Amino acid sequence: MRVGVIAIQGDFDKHREALHRIDKQGLEVVEVRTPEDLSTVDRAILPGGESTTVGLLMERYGLGDALKLAGRAGMPLWGTCMGMIMLATEVEDRDQYSLGLLDITVKRNAFGAQVHSFEDEVAVKGLSEPVMGVFIRAPIVSRVGPSTEVLAEYKGKVVAVKHRKIIGTSFHPELTDDVRMHEWFLNL
Ligand code: GLN
Repeated sequence: MRVGVIAIQGDFDKHREALHRIDKQGLEVVEVRTPEDLSTVDRAILPGGESTTVGLLMERYGLGDALKLAGRAGMPLWGTCMGMIMLATEVEDRDQYSLGLLDITVKRNAFGAQVHSFEDEVAVKGLSEPVMGVFIRAPIVSRVGPSTEVLAEYKGKVVAVKHRKIIGTSFHPELTDDVRMHEWFLNL
């Protein structure tokens, strides 16, 4: 299995490190920057980062269109934080580029200026024990489309969703030692 980590900007290296901690036969991890890179992988992770910057670059260099096609064709994709913003159909109060692969509206930096970052336990559907959710200027899902499944809520806010094999999480499992979400993603 070849897993791509979208490596335009953000914490992609942390995903690469997390994947390297998983003991899975034949697992290869590659950085993806171009449509050609994407065509060599079976699934891909969109990391945390800055969605405005990454959106501009994805749109300009064709990776956005390639991801849209791959996602619609059934490629498993997982976006953490900024990655979830990129996967959404709509960004609240903003006209910014996104891939439209998850029928959700996201609200950026939704936990407010005074709580830029925090950690707390989050129960995720499909995992028997909660994960430690690391939230960094995190978005929330403010609208969930009919085809989208809610995987986790935190204090009444939707923070993880799934549609077919496309997943979005507001938080960053790649910044913890716990690779259960990565393993789960590889098994989709
Ligand atoms: N606040 C960032 C954005 O809106 C996302 C933050 C993150 O990925 N940690 O793009």
